[in-house]
Amino acid sequence: MLSYQHAYHAGNFADVHKHLALNAVVDHLLRKPSPITFVDTHSGRGVYPLDAPETQRLGEYRHGVLPLWQARERLADEPLLSAWLEDIDALQQGGSRLERYPGSPWWLARRLRGSDRLRLFELHPGEHDHLSQQALPANALRIHGDGLAGLIQALPVPTPRLCVLIDPSYERKEEYSEVAECVLAAMRKARHGVVLVWYPLLPAGRHHVLLERLREGGLRKVWRSELTLHAPGEERGMYGSGMLVANPPWGIDERLAAAMARATPLLGEACRYSADWWVGE
Ligand code: SAM
Repeated sequence: MLSYQHAYHAGNFADVHKHLALNAVVDHLLRKPSPITFVDTHSGRGVYPLDAPETQRLGEYRHGVLPLWQARERLADEPLLSAWLEDIDALQQGGSRLERYPGSPWWLARRLRGSDRLRLFELHPGEHDHLSQQALPANALRIHGDGLAGLIQALPVPTPRLCVLIDPSYERKEEYSEVAECVLAAMRKARHGVVLVWYPLLPAGRHHVLLERLREGGLRKVWRSELTLHAPGEERGMYGSGMLVANPPWGIDERLAAAMARATPLLGEACRYSADWWVGE
């Protein structure tokens, strides 16, 4: 059963965290000319009009991208944040209002070079239809299907380098272990691939299943980055956003920490950012 629709949450604090981390990784990878295959295993719609009834219902972007967007002039001296906000600006249809927020397919497609490839998996038929309507470059392939199985089938990729984003909705609790097994299998087939895995911080703490399995499975060089809105258990629902990066590019920790130091005060008084090596070399 697929009931999750990202439009209800588009542009929230977790998207800010996830897409800044993704941009920091992609920026670094694009410094070298050798081609990259990007795989987005859980793509969603690609672009989210913020006035859509689903997005307006919870209005989570008002406590996520919006305060950063409104502060963009003050943030212009922070390299990662200002580039991210400029990219968001490029998606707006004129005017000074924030009208659309980009999802991961857009972020990945935006700087795709002619020699790179992009594979976008989406299992939900309605979400896939939305994604199909987005204007994307010809080397971006949209696939209606299971992204975890699709990733493993696609390996090894024909390009020298690989970058994967795994961003499930975790509607089923089994997804934490399924994601861990997929990452372990992918890293066996593509040892030098850069793999980003997003996970929610929820009071039930199910993300520990994912983290522990990756450590037990023998994965090395896994970096962890977390953004929390408040302490666990203070309120119901998601209290934070987590991102693992296997084989993180050099310098991503400092770049993201510098951006987060400026972003967290705008995301909430109790908002905190932390990062460490989940598994070292
Ligand atoms: N990555 C997107 C972004 O950053 O804009 C958001 C993705 S959303 C959190 C998760 C998406 O995964 C939903 O659109 C859902 O329909 C889709 N999905 C769920 N299970 C899937 C699967 N096994 N394979 C591919 N897509 C799946």
